[in-house]
Amino acid sequence: MLTLSAIKADVGGIGGHTQPSSGMMDAARQRLEEARDDGLLIDFDLTHTGDDLCLLMTHRHGSGAAQVHDFAWSVFEDATSIAQGEGLYGAGQDLLADAPSGNVRGAGPGAAEITFDETDPDRTAEPFLVFTADKCGPGAFNFPFWTVFTSPLYCAGLMLPKMRKGFKFVVVDMEHAGADRVIELNAPEEHVELAVLLRDENRFGVKEIWSRNFPGQQVASTSTDRLHTIAGEYKGKDDPVAIVRSQNIFPAPEELVSPFTTAHYVAGDARGSHHMPLMPVSINSAVAGPYCLPIVACVAYSLNEEGKLSERVDIFGNQVWDNTRRKAQEKAEEIRKQGFVGPAMLPVQELEYSAFRTSLAELEDRFRVVKGSTEAERAQKEKEPAPASD
Ligand code: MG
Ligand code: MG
Repeated sequence: MLTLSAIKADVGGIGGHTQPSSGMMDAARQRLEEARDDGLLIDFDLTHTGDDLCLLMTHRHGSGAAQVHDFAWSVFEDATSIAQGEGLYGAGQDLLADAPSGNVRGAGPGAAEITFDETDPDRTAEPFLVFTADKCGPGAFNFPFWTVFTSPLYCAGLMLPKMRKGFKFVVVDMEHAGADRVIELNAPEEHVELAVLLRDENRFGVKEIWSRNFPGQQVASTSTDRLHTIAGEYKGKDDPVAIVRSQNIFPAPEELVSPFTTAHYVAGDARGSHHMPLMPVSINSAVAGPYCLPIVACVAYSLNEEGKLSERVDIFGNQVWDNTRRKAQEKAEEIRKQGFVGPAMLPVQELEYSAFRTSLAELEDRFRVVKGSTEAERAQKEKEPAPASD
């Protein structure tokens, strides 16, 4: 069995929430090379998307392996030390626990992992995509995953015999702290029930997707931890990572990326408090847009039977995405014209995890109930005898 682990965290940025420094990247790369030489990992790639470092690792320890998660945590600690030494902003911001006990989930970093049998005859090759998003939550993948895995409108491949039975979604309640609270729903017959949940990207996220034609074959994994359910307050955005296997018994890369041409609105952005469109960008891009426009990168890899990674293809870095980038920027400028009002900002329940709740609480204290403003009070007043006149 082979495991793909993509573990991602923000442990510091240059001049704000832009990108990690080359010193942080160098430190992380050195640790990854050592782990490959020591045999912990078979192979790795190191990227960043905005201010998040992403460690893509191949190994034979299975999903959720303590030694891999502990290793990733220590890489983020080393990168944090560099960030602190360089005076970078938000150094170590996603390392919320002192040290996790063998699993970074619930400690701050996001992890997407898939384990599979690399000798399975149903998969003669193992192409896959890694999506890394910054300045948005895990629910940012709800729209593209629902459309691709339930609707032939976006994925004509669903009509082929190997995908006709559809896919099983594992949806997680991201507002539930502690143990995972999940529901399994089968597409296509429960695609409407899926929509009922996935429309709320702040609460529900797609954790896993599995083939129904080929039970036991997992096609997608997404990090679904939310930092506020760990820390109880806003600690930066939950910037997700997803791994999606492609081709053959699964949708093709060109189908998997098609919904991203929408530049759909997602929750996130500046202070994690706004709605803005998701812009596809090159891997290793900085966040530099007004109001921290949320960004997503997509990288394609192949993998051989030993678990060695190919070089990468920067899918969203291609010029064919220029038109979507322009559209995303225009949509962003349009919604920001209405400032803080209505759907431009997140619902107040989401903002309550941030310092916004303090501002709101101060105003709550100044509200007063106006006497005589209810129907009952007015009726009572009419019954009272009029004051005697002289
Ligand atoms: Mg940051
Ligand atoms: Mg980030």
